[in-house]
Amino acid sequence: MSHIDTKNLGFDSKVIHSGAHHDAYGSATVPIYQTSTFAFDNAQQGADRFAGTASGFIYTRLGNPTINALERQMAELEGGFGGIAMSSGMGSVSTVYLALLDQGAHMVGSATVYGPSRLLAEKHLSRFGVESTWVDTSNLDSLRKAMRPNTKMVYTETVANPTMDVTDIRGAAEIAHANNALLVVDNTFASPYLHRPIEHGADVVLHSVTKFLNGHADVVGGVVVPKTEALFRQLRPMMTTLGCNMDPHQAYLVIRGIKTLALRIERAQANAMRIAQWLEQQPQVEWVRYIGLPSHPQHELAKVLMSGFGSMIAFELKGGLEAGRTVMDSVKLATLAVSLGGVESLIEHPASMTHAGVPRDHRIEAGITDGLVRYSVGIEDVDDLIADLAQALDRVGDWARGKKAPKVGIAD
Ligand SMILES: *Cc1c(COP(=O)(O)O)cnc(C)c1O
Repeated sequence: MSHIDTKNLGFDSKVIHSGAHHDAYGSATVPIYQTSTFAFDNAQQGADRFAGTASGFIYTRLGNPTINALERQMAELEGGFGGIAMSSGMGSVSTVYLALLDQGAHMVGSATVYGPSRLLAEKHLSRFGVESTWVDTSNLDSLRKAMRPNTKMVYTETVANPTMDVTDIRGAAEIAHANNALLVVDNTFASPYLHRPIEHGADVVLHSVTKFLNGHADVVGGVVVPKTEALFRQLRPMMTTLGCNMDPHQAYLVIRGIKTLALRIERAQANAMRIAQWLEQQPQVEWVRYIGLPSHPQHELAKVLMSGFGSMIAFELKGGLEAGRTVMDSVKLATLAVSLGGVESLIEHPASMTHAGVPRDHRIEAGITDGLVRYSVGIEDVDDLIADLAQALDRVGDWARGKKAPKVGIAD
């Protein structure tokens, strides 16, 4: 099989062909090199590989052909220097923090980031003399005010989880760089298909590949893509030393998942738009937050930064938490589960689940109200998804009137 130069191809071609591995047998897919170690031809070759004067694999924690294929592909999809695959998204966050923040450093993070990303800094980095401040980064003035002389990192998600606030990455990059700090963006919610933060000024992009990139709810994994070689050389040894490397089999599944990234997201976001518009019209619904709706406060900004609106919706019912619980317990096609970005629709309650570790006052301040329900729209038939939500909302009506919920709609 000949090598394909994928650099100038469109994104939809890159998800199929970037990073491809070419073996002696012409395998059409990336083989799984399920090995922990690699034999050297002789002692000199082993020494040369360790010294970095000869290329070639040594040991899977340090590198592996299957994992490298994914790393090359992610670097190309995000437009960075190189990819570093991890055992989980939190492995990516840990590696980035530990590699780039020294004792005495300060970071400013977005108040609504993925709960454990904030917890890791507030609870653990603080033990090693790294301070953090958490503000609404969708308000650039708040970000600017939180910067200190020793601020070395600004850490944000372009679309916040689960409030769907959008941060202007271009402005955040300017503020960070004026302070000699790095801008790190967790791009899990958007995926590189919809948004490439490095193009807007970010220095490091990271992902939980568990979500959209893999897309099939069967792998936990992460990846970091720095913009420059210098950052890559700081980050990669931290991953190998921490030992949060990806496994070859994991990498194979993620490569397979990425092949349909473009198709999956197109379908999921078309479904999400229909569902968000429908939810907005339901009398039981207090508010809907979807960046594709003109009612979203940063809808116009999302249009500038992203090529599509994705498939994450947050909404709150008039009955608050109790009504939200009724809906979560009543849906039958959507799965009541945390995580997101898979082919199947998932519904969850951030205040008691994904963001339960965040103190309530911090949560409320960040806009994660007790009644907020998060819906990750999958690629099922959208009419089925709406029928499923409709029968669940009907029960809210009954609950509100103190009646017993009727058995209607999709079978249990
Ligand atoms: C899930 C998630 C993470 C953590 O990833 P894991 O793969 O579960 O470790 C980080 N950031 C965001 C935005 C996420 O949704």
